[in-house]
Amino acid sequence: MTDTQTQPLKLVVTGGAGYVGSVCAARLVEAGHDVTVLDDLSTGHADAVHPGARFIEGDAAETAETLLAEGFDGVLHFAAKSLVGESMQDPAKYWQGNVVTSLRLLDAMRTHGTPRLVFSSTAATYGEPESSPIPESAPTRPTNTYGATKLAIDHAITSYALAHGLAAVSLRYFNVAGAYGDLGERHATETHLIPLVLQTATGQREHISIFGEDYPTEDGTAIRDYIHVADLADAHLLALRHAAEGEHKIYNLGSGTGFSVRQVIEACRQATGHPIPAVVSPRRAGDPAVLVAASDRAREELGWKPERTDLIGIVTDAWNFTQARASK
Ligand code: UDP
Repeated sequence: MTDTQTQPLKLVVTGGAGYVGSVCAARLVEAGHDVTVLDDLSTGHADAVHPGARFIEGDAAETAETLLAEGFDGVLHFAAKSLVGESMQDPAKYWQGNVVTSLRLLDAMRTHGTPRLVFSSTAATYGEPESSPIPESAPTRPTNTYGATKLAIDHAITSYALAHGLAAVSLRYFNVAGAYGDLGERHATETHLIPLVLQTATGQREHISIFGEDYPTEDGTAIRDYIHVADLADAHLLALRHAAEGEHKIYNLGSGTGFSVRQVIEACRQATGHPIPAVVSPRRAGDPAVLVAASDRAREELGWKPERTDLIGIVTDAWNFTQARASK
């Protein structure tokens, strides 16, 4: 393998036109790597691809099978279906789109001798936690199809690492938030809390619905661990350096601090200066009360340290992005 400590790497970023993938591709280009973004634009945006990256519109399985023949040092695999609700209604889309696609990608990597993989996994692999914060050793019992498909891929990666010497790292994201300059969340179907709250501030929505006020938390609303997308991207660069032949390492990525839905709305009020009306509605099915990461392993082994942990700072970045998009 190329010496990852010093050499620029030749990398494929699947899903590099999506939210997290585009930020990560940008940080990789800025760090001097040679980046090819592979994205079918099913949910991504071509204008989110960093101008310093090569862009190929295509499928993470089929196109990768030919692309990887060029010879790459690694793949960062972001391309995925990621809506929890949709995954329950249309599981085939998730088993095909996530698991089958990833298996084909793994085989293409094996065929062409691509030595390392960084995979976007998720806190949804854990399901309802027994205790908080959640370490990587916690039981993995996903409560939705999305989490189940990501966990299945994690298992496949473990086997490929052991059997075929793949150097692999799975990063389990908690709640990704914020923006990196003009790269931020732009989903056709938006389900995430912060973008929806900010849409209320821009007047696109009359109010934000608080899904449940009867959780066993201080203010009764659910608690999540919001991690800034640029901090998350930095962990991928560190993961590339720490990937080791024949090993599959798994790291949680979160700030370790939880914020309630009400605290998020309040931070958005402060960041935007808008009153943001909120209406309490029933719980959303399958939402655990508290999801907070223990990310000591990433800190100790990768040397990762999230820098942008202030909630108002995180939502301010998202707000600046939202306003810039609105004026385009
Ligand atoms: N949430 C909410 N109203 C919304 C969207 C989300 O109250 O319109 C809550 C949701 O129930 C959860 C938290 O906000 O407790 C974060 O939800 P999100 O969908 O952003 O991320 P998840 O934790 O589901 O991955």
